[in-house]
Amino acid sequence: MAYSAWFQCIHGCPGRYSLYDVIYQCPKCGGLLEVAHDVEALKDRSPAAWMQLFEQRAHTTQWPYGSGVWGKKEWIVPDIDDDNIVSMYEGHTNLFWAERLGRQIGLPDLWVKLCGNSHTGSFKDLGMTVLVSVVRQMIAQWKPIQPVACASTGDTSPSLAAYAAAAGIPAIVFLPRGKVSTAQLIQPISNGALVLALDTDFDGCMRIVQEVTEDETIYLANSMNSLRIEGQKTVGIEIVQQFDWAVPDWIIIPVGNLGNITALGKGLLLMRELGLINKLPRLVAAQAAKANPLYQSYLKGFREKVVVKAQETLASAIQIGNPVSYEKAVRVLQQFDGVVEQATENELANAAAIADRTGMYTCPHTGVALAVLFKLVRRGVIKGNDRVVVISTAHGLKFTQFKLGYHENTLDDVEAIHANPPVYLPANVQVVRDAIARRLDEMAQ
Ligand SMILES: *Cc1c(COP(=O)(O)O)cnc(C)c1O
Ligand SMILES: [Zn+2]
Repeated sequence: MAYSAWFQCIHGCPGRYSLYDVIYQCPKCGGLLEVAHDVEALKDRSPAAWMQLFEQRAHTTQWPYGSGVWGKKEWIVPDIDDDNIVSMYEGHTNLFWAERLGRQIGLPDLWVKLCGNSHTGSFKDLGMTVLVSVVRQMIAQWKPIQPVACASTGDTSPSLAAYAAAAGIPAIVFLPRGKVSTAQLIQPISNGALVLALDTDFDGCMRIVQEVTEDETIYLANSMNSLRIEGQKTVGIEIVQQFDWAVPDWIIIPVGNLGNITALGKGLLLMRELGLINKLPRLVAAQAAKANPLYQSYLKGFREKVVVKAQETLASAIQIGNPVSYEKAVRVLQQFDGVVEQATENELANAAAIADRTGMYTCPHTGVALAVLFKLVRRGVIKGNDRVVVISTAHGLKFTQFKLGYHENTLDDVEAIHANPPVYLPANVQVVRDAIARRLDEMAQ
């Protein structure tokens, strides 16, 4: 079966480019590229046959199909050699039924897709397995690529560093100094990447990495590189698969550079084209109010791209003022009857805390998505009997400082109404008994 995929311009300029070429933008118009698949060839399998194949491969150890990404290899990079794949069996993250939280807000069919339950603690692993695998295949074909490089708001660099280390490829990461969490900083350091902490913000790092990778022997690993989108597009497919191939009514996703929402849409559209589903969910893009260029553009009916200077936000991985995948994301939002909404620092931090009280451990970006969910439910846009999935993009354990700051009530712009600080007491049984009684009284109220 000759399945094939290639890069092409999103503006429709003629020309197809190999996925193993070092190319990120259309040479004719400078627009972004996207990976296109020979969909007619993929139709040689019936929808039922694809579903059966994907089910069969899930959680097996037969290399590389046990990965949530590579179990769908024909839809991702069909012609890559299995020997060149760099995988940590990413994907297949659990879909958590947020029963208690859902009941609190009158939404019993609420689910959270825990993409942070992954090798480096964020969904970025889904895309990086694809990018680093393609690089390994290029090197095997004697393309003169040496290192891979990326700018990062915090989670791209750990993911790149881990996959590159697993493949024995050098990695260079550009971070905005002082703007990523301690966990995010130490991950690429541990994996042996060259970590460059620059005195700028993410958008500034992005400009520098783009110039540095004009040298074709350094490969650009940002989401401008649409190979990552191919891996990340499995998230929507996986959600549908986890509901026994039923499509939810809504999917809410926190967005920054807009690669992930593009990917989510792309996977679902391919499923529809191949007949595995016949409807689409509505998508909600959730932004931090401190870095909300997409929201501002949405208010203007997407008539033009808005670029802002992103302000400091607790949701540091989405502190982006000039999103690379703007055009792709707008197309997706238009096809999925999309909504864009924003959340303030106070809203996102308290939303995360409310979710944590029901057993989750949410990162600030997931807090943004949850705060937006609460607003849309209150406003009646999302109805009580809708099935809703919130995409949790990273693990809360990467954001200890955020959690600590919340519970100590020391975060700027946040009134920590659900703070639960430790109770410091002398080692005296009666004092301890009194403290327990007080807490149980409070809980009974
Ligand atoms: C990268 C990232 C996002 C944003 O994804 P984009 O593709 O940039 O829109 C959201 N949350 C977390 C935790 C991330 O690491
Ligand atoms: Zn073009």
